[in-house]
Amino acid sequence: MITQAQIIEQGQKFGFEDVGFTSAAPFHDHKKLLLEMTDEYGWADEVGLDLKNGADPASILPGAKTIIVLIEPYFNKSYPSSMEAHFGRCYLDDDRVTKDGLAKRIKAFRQFLRDAGIDSRVPFNLPHRVGAARAGLGTFGKNCLFYSNKVVRCGSWTLPIAVVIDKEFTPGIASVKTDCPSWCKNACITSCPTGALKGNSKIDPRKCISYLTYFGDEITPLEIREPMGMYIYGCDRCQDVCPRNQPWLAQQLEPNERVAAKANNFELPRLLHMDKAYFESKIWPHMFYMGSDTIWKWKMNVARVMGNCRDKKYLPDLEKAFNENRDDRIKGMIAWAMGQIGNQDTGQILKSYSANNSGKVLKEISMAIQTIENKNKNKKNHNGAL
Ligand code: SF4
Ligand code: SF4
Repeated sequence: MITQAQIIEQGQKFGFEDVGFTSAAPFHDHKKLLLEMTDEYGWADEVGLDLKNGADPASILPGAKTIIVLIEPYFNKSYPSSMEAHFGRCYLDDDRVTKDGLAKRIKAFRQFLRDAGIDSRVPFNLPHRVGAARAGLGTFGKNCLFYSNKVVRCGSWTLPIAVVIDKEFTPGIASVKTDCPSWCKNACITSCPTGALKGNSKIDPRKCISYLTYFGDEITPLEIREPMGMYIYGCDRCQDVCPRNQPWLAQQLEPNERVAAKANNFELPRLLHMDKAYFESKIWPHMFYMGSDTIWKWKMNVARVMGNCRDKKYLPDLEKAFNENRDDRIKGMIAWAMGQIGNQDTGQILKSYSANNSGKVLKEISMAIQTIENKNKNKKNHNGAL
C-alpha cells in the first residue's frame, strides 16, 4: 500500500507546491450556502454547473473516501502588463482547452495513483477552495478567495485542485475560516467597483466583473460600464489591493514567455475586428467561457474598455467597427465609447450614424452625442472662468 508521504512526494515532483488531504465527507455548509443563495447562484444551474451535486464527493466517485488537494500557483512568472490590465491572471496561462501544461501533470498524478490501485476523479463542480481549507492548506479572505498557508508567499494566486479518491488517508486539520488581519480596512470590499463583495465573506457572483464579462445576453448597463473599467475577461482588483497579496506582488518575477508570445493576439484593435476563424484559433483556446456565437460579447467588452481608456487613438477602430458590425449590442457600446473619448468631430460622425440607425442603437448614439456636448459645455465654462 502506498503511503501518504509518497503521495505528497509524487505530487511535489509533478510541480504542485503543496499537497493536503481531507475526508470525502459531504460539504454540508457549502451546500446550505448554495441553497440560501439560490438567486445568486441560479445561473450556475443554467450553464450546467451542478454546484449542489458537487458538494457530495460520493456523487462524483461512489466509494469516495478522501480528497487529495493539490495546490497549483498560476502566477509564478510575470505577465505582460498589457495582458494583466485586461484579463484575470488565472486565465492568462489556462490550459483547460490546450491541455498542454497543467492537464498533463494532473493526468500523470492520476496515473501514479492508478498504478498504486487508487481510483480517482477530478470533478469541476466540487468546492475546490473549501476542500483546500478543509485539508488545512490555507484560509479565506473577505474577498471569498483562498489564501495558501505557504505557497505564493501565503497569497491568493493559486488554483486548488481536488482529486477525489477511493482510499482512506489521514485528513489535515481543517482551517475553514476567514483570516484577514484586523488592521486591514476591508480594502477588497471598498475597492470592488461593482459592489459584488457583501462584507460578510460572501459574494454576489452576478455583480462580479468576472461574471459580467462573460455572462449575460444584453448590452452592459450604463451604470456599470465605467466601474468595469479596463477588464475584458475576468477581474483581479480585489486580489491586487489585498495586503495579504503584497509580499508576492513585491517581487520581480521572471517573464512568462509563453504568455508574452501570444500578447499581440490580444491587442484591443485585433479583438475588436476579429472574425470567427481568428477567435477560434487565437483566443478561444485560451479563454473559452464564451464560444464563437458570443463573439459579440468580446467585441462589446473591448469597445467598453476602449471607451474607458479615454485614448483618441482608438477612434478610427471604433468607427470602422461600427460600420462592420450589425449587432445592436456592439454598435451601442461603440457609440458609448466614442462619446467617452470623442470631441466635436466625433459628435458629427455620431450624428451621421443617426439617420441609418434606430431603437437601442439610436438611443446610445443620442446619449453619446449628449456626452460630447456636455464635455464641450464644461470645457467652455472652465475656459470662461479662467
Ligand atoms: S473580482 Fe473584481 S468585481 Fe469580482 S469581487 Fe473582486 S473586485 Fe469585485
Ligand atoms: S483586502 Fe483585507 S479584508 Fe480583503 S481579503 Fe485582503 S486582508 Fe482580507
